[in-house]
Amino acid sequence: MNLVTSGDRDRRVFVGDHTRKEFREKIEAGTIDAAIVPTAATEQHNEHLEMIHDTLHATWMAEQAALRLFPRVVVTSPVSVGVSEHWMAQIGTLTVRPEIFCEYVFDVCNSMVRAGVKNVLILNGHGGNVKPLMRRIYEFRDRLGSDVNIRFQSYWDVYDPALVRETMDNGRLPGHADEYETSTMLVLAPERVHAADIDNDSAALGTKAKGDRLMEPAVDGVAAVLEKMIAGEKIDQPPVTFRSEGRLHMISGEEV
Ligand SMILES: [Zn+2]
Repeated sequence: MNLVTSGDRDRRVFVGDHTRKEFREKIEAGTIDAAIVPTAATEQHNEHLEMIHDTLHATWMAEQAALRLFPRVVVTSPVSVGVSEHWMAQIGTLTVRPEIFCEYVFDVCNSMVRAGVKNVLILNGHGGNVKPLMRRIYEFRDRLGSDVNIRFQSYWDVYDPALVRETMDNGRLPGHADEYETSTMLVLAPERVHAADIDNDSAALGTKAKGDRLMEPAVDGVAAVLEKMIAGEKIDQPPVTFRSEGRLHMISGEEV
């Protein structure tokens, strides 16, 4: 898989891009304050977006946020198959059962904890992963112990509702393979937007200009979450989704 990377060898943030010596020396020097574990999906994204979309998106967000805080934050390999049972009628979609997914994510997080990392942010980029992981995150905390600060959230939780309202004509964010995801992929990797195959009006609203407006604020918001985690501050950001009727709380479904 061709991950989006900065290509700057002096500013490597992915765990896997370090030798064991380099990683160990950073841990021993107390350089690494936090790790991000990107979680996403490999699933159908309508006719025009590639199925790896959510994984590329979440991994890019994680990388950029880590670069903002370089060298204090590292990024693990992404968990690139998520809970996508609802799309299995569209062949090519990959899915794992929620309990398997959650345990796998836990073990990746725990690998960083066992290496000596005290703050772990599970940064999600796929809606189907939200409820399974939110149901387990408190249990994860108990299992890892009180000196570990683990948090789960989606990158879109950090958006200012006013910015979403002003920028998205359909009001939805992230939506699924429509205006938002088409716009952001036009920024990240335009060759992955198969424009001739766009077959719905909402995806046709996607533009690079909208993507440009929305990408950096999300990176800033995720970096701010990491800074608060490292400082031990409380974070008040519930799981949300944006619809034309407003910002909805993802677990209870209520408007907030
Ligand atoms: Zn998506």
